[in-house]
Amino acid sequence: TALLQVKGLKVQVEDNEILHGLDLTVNQGEVHAIMGPNGSGKSTLSHVIAGKPGYDVTAGEILFKGEDVLEMAPDERAAKGVFLAFQYPVEIPGVTTMNFLRTALNAQRKARGEAELLVPDFLKKVRSVADSLNIPMDMLKRGVNVGFSGGEKKRNEILQMALFQPSLCILDEMDSGLDIDALRVAADGVNALRSKDRAMVVITHYQRLLNYITPDFVHVMSKGRVVKSGGKELALELEESGYAQFEDKAA
Ligand code: ADP
Ligand code: MG
Ligand code: MG
Repeated sequence: TALLQVKGLKVQVEDNEILHGLDLTVNQGEVHAIMGPNGSGKSTLSHVIAGKPGYDVTAGEILFKGEDVLEMAPDERAAKGVFLAFQYPVEIPGVTTMNFLRTALNAQRKARGEAELLVPDFLKKVRSVADSLNIPMDMLKRGVNVGFSGGEKKRNEILQMALFQPSLCILDEMDSGLDIDALRVAADGVNALRSKDRAMVVITHYQRLLNYITPDFVHVMSKGRVVKSGGKELALELEESGYAQFEDKAA
């Protein structure tokens, strides 16, 4: 079975239909890029997969490892291996990044029936991952994302991915607001996590990110639907021709 199957998904926010019957299949080990203009529903799709509240699914289904995701609470989805790096990571003042990471990791382990990681083992793990991402340990003593630069927030998301080892990583516009050096560090972090046991869905408005993270498949979203799918060359075509050609088709 596919790792992720989205079939005929229709989603409303406050009686407004935003996704109009979306299909997407992602297999283990694959990297998919979802491209599309602002407002096409990319973040909505990622939020609904991860279980962010505020969305009504009116039709269709989402299966993860063959199980109905829509029946699961967000933390259940995370424990089963769904990870979303938000376009706008939330700040949690008063909770140090270190404590957040340890609590979240142990909650996931517990939900899977695994033993909690003891503090020394956790610290060892965090140190090695943080080092590889150029994250100073001091940053982890600060409140989650509080006062972090754009690049620091992204590196923090990748640190979470590296610790949680999810089987599906969804990265929502991780390139937004990053300069080229920060983008390279973030992309290297993502590439290091590519594996045959893990799939990635890389959401982006711009082709640029895909110079650093090479996808196996590219999907174009327009007005709440996937309107075209292809290989990595589709991203380059889009760079030439733009999104306007799809607007009529979607309408
Ligand atoms: P993208 O990530 O592709 O830019 P979004 O998923 O953020 O697109 O938004 C898709 C559409 O849904 C937009 O028209 C947006 O205004 C609308 N939308 C998203 N979230 C909400 C919300 N909470 N309330 C009302 N409209 C929303
Ligand atoms: Mg947007
Ligand atoms: Mg978005």
